[in-house]
Amino acid sequence: MDGFPLSITEALCLGSSLALSGICYYLYRKSRTTVDKLDDAPHLIIDGNLKNILKVTPGACLQYAVIEGAVRPVGEPLTSHFQKEIVGVLQKFMLREHRLLWNSLSRTWMDSERVLHERVNAVPFVLVGSDETAVKVLCPLQASGVYMEMTHEKFHQVNYGLGDIVGQFLSGEKLKGQLEIEEMLKVGASLTGVGELIMDRDGSLNLRPPSNGSQYFLSITDFETLRGDQESNAVWWKVLATGFALAGVVVLLWVGRRYYRHLKIRSEREKERREFERLQAEALRARLAGTAPEALQDSADVQIENACVICLSQPRNCILLDCGHVCCCHNCYQALPQRRCPICRQNIRRVVPLYHV
Ligand SMILES: [Zn+2]
Ligand SMILES: [Zn+2]
Repeated sequence: MDGFPLSITEALCLGSSLALSGICYYLYRKSRTTVDKLDDAPHLIIDGNLKNILKVTPGACLQYAVIEGAVRPVGEPLTSHFQKEIVGVLQKFMLREHRLLWNSLSRTWMDSERVLHERVNAVPFVLVGSDETAVKVLCPLQASGVYMEMTHEKFHQVNYGLGDIVGQFLSGEKLKGQLEIEEMLKVGASLTGVGELIMDRDGSLNLRPPSNGSQYFLSITDFETLRGDQESNAVWWKVLATGFALAGVVVLLWVGRRYYRHLKIRSEREKERREFERLQAEALRARLAGTAPEALQDSADVQIENACVICLSQPRNCILLDCGHVCCCHNCYQALPQRRCPICRQNIRRVVPLYHV
């Protein structure tokens, strides 16, 4: 696209929409693969038969399987800090600070959040089925999915005095308060696990993160809900990828339209220049046929006196119509950014060569 300027905004819009579309498409493919793997994973019931299934499986290992069972601690369970009757096997405690920050651009107070403290406690646990068969869950914190329940949530609001309010307006920062959250995976909760199922030499069963790169899931919802969430993620990424790709196409069409118009103007100007040169040559031939050499000399002098108002170096050699001004040379006329007379700003409809007789 010789000489065709692609504006920075267009280049940025095109680049970012294509890049975002690519990222969203990659995430869509990833979510889609996860859903396909979930669909292919066998659903196994935790009972005495599970060991028999694993015994006949090569390596006593199923790379991706779905199991459901009730959570039971291997040793002493953890107790909630806030409700002593709640016991669990995983516990997450978080303290978040909420502030309002003055945004001088939008002239409003904006919410801002900061984690002050976060602590995770875990004890080993198993999933038990209908009989006493148990599957130990390894590395539960590496799993995706919702497997904790909120057991405590409290917002500690800050009370202000007059001095604090003055200070806040001076510093542009207001402390709203602190949010205290405790989440737990409770003992007895029904948990769906999707991962690698393996039987150790001693006959104990374990669920662990898959070694083939598949996603490890633990969820207190049932399998269908877990799969549905993954499916809707995939749909969202697909919608976003398509949206960004369409935005890229729109930018491309816009640039294409501009390029087409640029080419059209260029070819029109070329045509105009050739027509002008033809008329000029015709006029010169007529002059040579009808005038004496001295007269030609005179007219050349007149032309140099009447230099083009734009470049000041070429003689004025064209008449701009309809206004009729003779003010520039044809090269300068062609270089005008808009087809308007540089003297009176009237639209130029046609241009004809000027010749003296
Ligand atoms: Zn000129
Ligand atoms: Zn004019």
